[in-house]
Amino acid sequence: MGRIFFFNYCAIPVYLIILYTTFVRRATKGLANTFFITLTIVSLLTTVFDIIADGYEAFLPMERWYYAVVVFTTYAYFILRNATSLLYFFFILSYTRTWFRFRSARLKLLITAPYAVFLIVLLTNPIHKGVYTISPEAGYIRAPLIMVPYVVSIFYLLFGTVYLTGCRSFIERSKFVALMSMYVLSAIAVLWQLFRPRYLVEMFSTAIAFLMVILLVLRPEEITDSSVGLPSWKAYKAELRKIVTTRHPVQIFAVRFINAERVRAYLGEEMYAGYFSAVAGQIDRFLHEERFPEDMYFEAPGNLYCIVDSSFRSLDLSEKQRLFFDAITEHTQDFERMGVHLDARICSLRYPEDLGTEEDIIRLGHEFFGLIPVDQTFVKAEELVGTRKYEIGTRMDSILNRAITEHGFEMYYQPIYSLSEGGFCSAEALIRLNDETYGAISPGLFIPAAESKGLILPIGDFVLESVFSFISAHDLTALGLHYIEINLSVAQCLQPELVDKVKCLQERYGVDPSQVNFEITETTYDNIGNVAEKNIRRLAEMGYSFSLDDYGTGYSNMKRVVTLPLKIIKLDKSLIDEMKSPTGRSIIRSVIRMMKDIDKELIAEGVEAEADLYELKEMGCDLIQGFYFSRPLPAPEFLAFLDDQLNKKAP
Ligand code: C2E
Ligand code: MG
Ligand code: MG
Repeated sequence: MGRIFFFNYCAIPVYLIILYTTFVRRATKGLANTFFITLTIVSLLTTVFDIIADGYEAFLPMERWYYAVVVFTTYAYFILRNATSLLYFFFILSYTRTWFRFRSARLKLLITAPYAVFLIVLLTNPIHKGVYTISPEAGYIRAPLIMVPYVVSIFYLLFGTVYLTGCRSFIERSKFVALMSMYVLSAIAVLWQLFRPRYLVEMFSTAIAFLMVILLVLRPEEITDSSVGLPSWKAYKAELRKIVTTRHPVQIFAVRFINAERVRAYLGEEMYAGYFSAVAGQIDRFLHEERFPEDMYFEAPGNLYCIVDSSFRSLDLSEKQRLFFDAITEHTQDFERMGVHLDARICSLRYPEDLGTEEDIIRLGHEFFGLIPVDQTFVKAEELVGTRKYEIGTRMDSILNRAITEHGFEMYYQPIYSLSEGGFCSAEALIRLNDETYGAISPGLFIPAAESKGLILPIGDFVLESVFSFISAHDLTALGLHYIEINLSVAQCLQPELVDKVKCLQERYGVDPSQVNFEITETTYDNIGNVAEKNIRRLAEMGYSFSLDDYGTGYSNMKRVVTLPLKIIKLDKSLIDEMKSPTGRSIIRSVIRMMKDIDKELIAEGVEAEADLYELKEMGCDLIQGFYFSRPLPAPEFLAFLDDQLNKKAP
């Protein structure tokens, strides 16, 4: 009875298409991809051998050369066919990142022993002839031990099904279905072939299962960042998910190129992508040469994450760190020829020792560079986790929400001294957050967090309301003050209803616009569109004045200084700190002179020393703000402070 090869013939183009698309889509990196490619090649060969080996019936009795071919291909068929089951299980282990579960010798034996037994039985078949016999006259005839390869296949099928089901919790549904399809289709094919032995459907069903895998599981477009050609942020998160669910110990290096945004703006999108993939490629090559096992992921604009399997104990931890650090610093320097330098900050963390959840790992990767001094390039997570700053950072959401709902904010006021009037003429309103657990939290910490979490507007509203009510409750003139300065955040400036809000407060509290000065920062300008500029102009028309905060820290754009209605320029503390050096003094002197030429008033911020005060006065600075006179004070203390000053002055 002739066999029907139709399905086997169909399987061949399917395997070829799978291989072709795998290479075209460059889904060749990583252990899971390697296993998949091996599996496809093995299955392709199995199919070919199956066709050749089973084609003997047409040639009975066989010629000698054909007999030799049939003997060889039959053995090869059995060896490869059963290897597929084992390889597929290895593929699942790689894909689910659960190799480490099989580290013990006993488990290793459990998954490899059935295949080994089968191999021994098969390879000794020429002696015992228990599996099958082949003769030139009668062809291929099964013997009782033919059950061995079937039993082994069934073992892997059942074991794999159970194992995969156990991984269900951390594999997406569609991927789980695709992975499982291999087992389901194999079972159907085996049953089919049992009842309809003429139809060789096994290899075709495997091909269909592989198609499912390549379409739904190994999707490079889904997990590769197409701009730089590295595994994506999404893939990183999926890996973390697997790691945490299976409690797989790993070491992660988070690299943050802190000037990535700027380098990208400088080079342009396309060149930046090319540049970055070259940097990443170099690092990758170097690490491979050093036999440093890792998977690298990319997050725009310039973060890299490397996951190193802790089960690779060939290198000790500090050795790994040193190698990694060298790779990053050396290979980013190589690109300085192009005139750009990626400024890297690296954090190494261990799971589960340092951090135990995906969210915490992701958060630390995003925030660690804010927790270390600017000139520190490398940090271990264990040095950060547990510090007050870190604790506050991880709980910032709830801290902010609690402060907003339970009125945890308070306005402080820092007096500003007028050198020409010889007394305090204004003050800057500075917000404070009092948390029941963490006490006073600096605005330097929570304002940027509130901005990124979209909570800055309610905070800004609180500031406006408090300061307007403060002004209406006290007679500023009697206190010697002309106005109070209010910091406006970028988000507030961009709010279309900002002017209406201010107008509303102005009417409710009967405040004169000349009693309020808004501070905006240079970064505000970087981001302003029409709305912000319109807001600033309309408020200025209403009589509010503006100062430019933190002058000297960003990119000082002269055109904006000239065109926007700014009354005051505030020299940042970092600039004032340069008073110590002759160059610093020259710069400050020139800035003051230049600003005076275009009729701006100048405030020096962060003045702490008496000597600086006199020097600034001599340079022509108008106003001084700093700890030399006073720290920011709560409203009652601030009022008492002013009273005190007035009393001192009176006699
Ligand atoms: P800023 O607007 O530049 O405020 C000046 C900062 O310098 C204040 O820090 C002040 O306490 C500090 N400072 C003043 N004199 C000295 C000194 O002599 N030595 C030292 N070391 N520091 C001095 P603070 O209050 O921690 O505020 C930090 C930043 O947070 C502010 O910088 C501002 O950008 C932001 N911020 C504060 N309050 C508000 C607010 O109500 N709204 C908004 N949007 N941002 C605010
Ligand atoms: Mg300010
Ligand atoms: Mg400032």
